[in-house]
This record gives sequence, structure tokens and C-alpha cells, in this order.
Amino acid sequence: MKEKKQLDKMEKIISLSKRRGFVFQGSEIYGGMGGTYSYGPLGVELKNNIKQLWWKKFVQDRTNIVGIDGPILLHPKLWVVSGHAEGFGDAMVDCKECKKRFRADHLVEDAIGKDLEGKIEEMTKIIKEEKIKCPNCGKVNWTDVKEFNMMFKTQMNGVEGDIFLRPETAGAIFIEFKNVMDSTRQKLPFGIAQIGKAFRNEIVAGNFIFRLREFEQMEIEYLIRPQENWEPIFDNWLNLQEEFAMELGAKKEDLRRLEHPREKLSHYSKKTIDIEYKFPFGFKELYGLAHRGDFDLTQHTEFSNEKLEYFDQETGERFIPHIIEPTFGVERSLLLALLSAYTEEEVEGEIRVVLKFPNKLAPIKIAFLPLSKKDELTEPTKKLFDKFKEKFICQYDETQSIGKRYRRQDEVGTPYCVTFDFDSLGDNSVTVRDRDTMKQERVKIEDLEIYLNEKFHSNE
Ligand SMILES: [Zn+2]
Repeated sequence: MKEKKQLDKMEKIISLSKRRGFVFQGSEIYGGMGGTYSYGPLGVELKNNIKQLWWKKFVQDRTNIVGIDGPILLHPKLWVVSGHAEGFGDAMVDCKECKKRFRADHLVEDAIGKDLEGKIEEMTKIIKEEKIKCPNCGKVNWTDVKEFNMMFKTQMNGVEGDIFLRPETAGAIFIEFKNVMDSTRQKLPFGIAQIGKAFRNEIVAGNFIFRLREFEQMEIEYLIRPQENWEPIFDNWLNLQEEFAMELGAKKEDLRRLEHPREKLSHYSKKTIDIEYKFPFGFKELYGLAHRGDFDLTQHTEFSNEKLEYFDQETGERFIPHIIEPTFGVERSLLLALLSAYTEEEVEGEIRVVLKFPNKLAPIKIAFLPLSKKDELTEPTKKLFDKFKEKFICQYDETQSIGKRYRRQDEVGTPYCVTFDFDSLGDNSVTVRDRDTMKQERVKIEDLEIYLNEKFHSNE
């Protein structure tokens, strides 16, 4: 029952997202393309707010992390050196009856409760032995399990070899390590951050914007001395990642840490932890943190023309730093923000839907509403809108009844509505309505700026 309620909530969010312009299915008029989405007028504001919050917290507010914006198209050698060209994939299997494709590891895990990650032949055997039925058509007629590389392949004029749309943003950071160091004179420990698109040709995309084929990552490569005691630094990053999730609205109890067991770790990683969030479809990875050792910089040093070393001016030593890599998904953050904000309340026998976003995330901060469409009210309201739009993202709305307009703003999470009515003409005051408490306060127009500034700052 509880599970159903959770999934209902997901359905409601998908429908609200479309109705109010947060998220649309990609290429919908042509039947849609799985794992791609458009962000509508409000969705793009919300997404930008999440990215800005992240950039401020991890780059602008810190002295030892700097940002870059690297290309999506990277040299073919990079993916050979990083190991992605050889094996960045999942195990897939096709149903010969209905032609649907599935993740073989997921089918096997559901059937025997064990993840046979990477063991292709064993998976083929188990799918046959266990007579696993096709989740789509119910028949048992499978192809052999095959490794499927999830990178999108293309070509580029003037470059030999396969070009891949990057499956993660990190590669661009590693290869700019020396340029960043030389141009910024950063001393260890320091980090390089990047926000950008990444592409994975997932076998099965799904759960709305959870598993996507085109998505955005916010990543940091945090460089430390090889001999440094890395565990406290690693733990601190875990705390910072959880702190960020909570700034988006997550409750502490809806987050948990899942450490990758030793046998599942990449050979170079000392430790990898997924931070999971309790989505309506269960606890799933929200963010990740990995100790990558010196693998990436060592590899690129070996196969490029550049020594990606750090020079310690005090000791005269040269060495390749170790890397701790916190990764954040933009769309998963956005889904978390929507899920945490979504609230239904009963008000006077009716259900009120409110997105209780933290102020910083709200796509619209203040709505300016004249009580009626009469010029004597709309003109001064528009003037207020013009003044406040310089400082806040505002909206002006004069259509439909004031009650309906309040509900509309609630539904998109606007923290404050300012209403200009007939009394305003006489008392030079407006009504400010609070989204969460629905309390209305009369405020002098001359005090409005101070009043709203305080509201937004006290809630930071
Ligand atoms: Zn089938």
C-alpha cells in the first residue's frame, strides 16, 4: 500500500512536470525518445538554480577548488587510455519473441538474488537454466548475453579513430590538469570542478529522469598527496555531498551510504561509496564518491606527450597526485528537489498542491498580481514587477481569479505573492502572501524591498 502511494506520487510529479512546464518527454511529437527529456520554462530555471547552488558551494565559496568547462568531444586516445573504449558497458540480452532488450545482470539478479557483474557466460547459463521469462511478453526465448558498450560513437573531420560523446565529464578534467595547475598556482590539496553533459546509451532507460541517455554531471577531481591520510578527506566529501542533498530538500533519513565491496571495486580504487536516496522506486544511487588513486594521471602521463605531475616547490619533489572524485547528477538532484518539495494539503475541503522548494531553488521567487484587470491596478503592479525583477526572478500574472492564481503559484513553488488591490490605491500598501503558511501580511510599498530581502535572507 505504502509502495503504491509512493509510485502514485511519482505519477503525480510526472504529470505536474508536464502540466506546469518543468519536464517534457524528449521528441514527444514524434513518439518520444527514451531517456531524453526537455526542460520547460520552469524546469530550466530549477535546473540552473541547482547548478548555481552547487557551483557557489564547491567552487566560488572555496579557495582551493577551481572550475573548467571542457569539450564534450575529446581525443579518441583518451577513451582507450581510460579503459572506456575497451569496456564501458553492461550485459545485455534480447528477447527473440518480442525483440525487447534487457539488462542481463538485472534479470539474473532478480532471479537468483546475486549480481554476476561482468560474468557474461555464467549469465547466459543462468538465464537458460532458470528459464527466466521475458518481463515484456512472458516467453522464454533469449539470445546469448552480450557485452554492450554504452558510449555513443561518431566521427570527426580531420581526426582518425572513433570519437565518442563523453560518458562522464571527468576525462576533460584529467587532461587539463597541467594547464589548470600552471595557470592558477594552486597547491595541494586542490580540486578542479566541472558541470556538463554526458551521454550513455543505456540498454534500459527509465524511472522518469532517473536513468537517462543524455544527462548532466557535476564533478570534482580533488587532488591530494599520495602519502596523505586520505580517509578524513574522503569522509568530509561524503558529508559535503549529503549536505548538498539536504540543501535541495532531502531529509537525512532518506539518505544512506552504500560501500562497494572490495571485489566490485576497480583495481585502482581504494574505496567507492554510493550515496543513495529513497526514491519512490526504492533506494537508488544519487551521488557517488570514489578514491581513484593515481590511475588517471598515470595513464595519461604514459600515453600523452605531457608529464601530469605536481611539483612541490618546498621539497623539490615531483609526483603524481592521488584523486578523490565526488560526482553529482544534475537530473537526479532535480528529481530529488521535486520529490522533496511535493506536498498535498487539505484546505477548506480541497486539496492544495504545493511545491515547498527552499527559496534558493524556487524557479519564480515573487509573483506580482493585480486584484483585477482594471488599468488602475495593473499599471502600478507592473511598475512593482519592473522594479523587483532587477533583483529577483519575478512573474506578473493578471488572468483568472486571485484564488486560482495563488493555487497556480503554489503548484510551481513561488515563495511569495504580492497582490495590489483597490485599497492599495489609498494606503500605498500591498498584501504579501506566504506560500507555506498561506498567511497574508499588509506591507507598505516603500518597505516592500526591505521586507522581501529579509524574508529571502532569513531562509537561506
Ligand atoms: Zn519478450
